Amino acid sequence: MIPVAFDYQRPTSVDEALALLEEHGDEAKLLAGGHSLLPMMKLRLAYPSVVVDVGRLSDLSYVDDSGDQLAIGALTRHRDVEIHPLVAEHAPLLAAATGHVGDPQVRHRGTLGGALAHADAAGDHPSALLALGGSVVVRSAQGGERVIEADDLFTGFLESSLEPTEMIIEIRIPKHTGQGWNFQKFNRRAQDWAIVGVSAQRVDGGARVALVNMHPTPIRAVAVEEALADGADAATAAELAGDGMEPSADLNAGVDYRTHLARVLTRRALQAAGID
Ligand SMILES: Cc1cc2nc3c(=O)[nH]c(=O)nc-3n(C[C@H](O)[C@H](O)[C@H](O)COP(=O)(O)OP(=O)(O)OC[C@H]3O[C@@H](n4cnc5c(N)ncnc54)[C@H](O)[C@@H]3O)c2cc1C
Repeated sequence: MIPVAFDYQRPTSVDEALALLEEHGDEAKLLAGGHSLLPMMKLRLAYPSVVVDVGRLSDLSYVDDSGDQLAIGALTRHRDVEIHPLVAEHAPLLAAATGHVGDPQVRHRGTLGGALAHADAAGDHPSALLALGGSVVVRSAQGGERVIEADDLFTGFLESSLEPTEMIIEIRIPKHTGQGWNFQKFNRRAQDWAIVGVSAQRVDGGARVALVNMHPTPIRAVAVEEALADGADAATAAELAGDGMEPSADLNAGVDYRTHLARVLTRRALQAAGID
């Protein structure tokens, strides 16, 4: 439970943080809320030689109205996302998913940027970002800024398309004001990770649906979305929830049970979002 020794740096600006990433490359790791990185380091699944603590860069903590989308600073804590009136009005799915993360302690430390960069298929945020059709703005010292769509962000088990020298600066969420949505999370205790979860967001002509903990990566339930677009009802479309996915088996659930949960929760999510 003791991490490998590392250097600790606490930059006072984003530029300084990016310069440190440029200098140390994949030897360095950003520390935001630390609620995923520190457990990984203690388990020695991550062993950066330099930890770059950006947790106090408060200028990256905000929720702004940016026209047809919300702009959320990467270091905005889960609790600030959960209770923000703009998120409640324009992206209530994100607020709901965030409210299901861990316990109050976790939600007061963890950040939206950290949760997305960590790219955990069992995390609640990646599914919400996928269902909402969001994107992340990343920046590096040499490469400037680029935007990564949610569909291109999650590339493998705990892997994202971020380069080691890049930092998520902002998360952009298209407004879904007044459209049906729902978030389902099945776990045994309120503060646990999802055994399976579902984010559903109604969009013109159908819905975007993404599943939690049903595949090595966060994933959209494309077969469900296509069935809805073809006119299937919620119950019929939800039967396709596990299609094309490779859920793992663990102490909480085997593959068959996870697939069953995905179907049941997807049906509930679609119906609660107003799709019959
Ligand atoms: C007890 C416990 C229970 C939890 N339960 C849940 C749960 O139910 N559901 C859930 O979804 N999550 C859960 N979490 C995880 C929690 O949501 C974390 O806060 C989140 O996954 C990571 O956010 P962080 O800010 O703590 O990131 P950190 O741990 O600081 O960083 C995580 C990773 O992202 C990188 N990173 C951080 N910020 C950036 C950035 N801006 N740009 C690029 N890379 C960056 C880091 O280098 C690191 O690799 C739980 C955590 C704990 C400890």
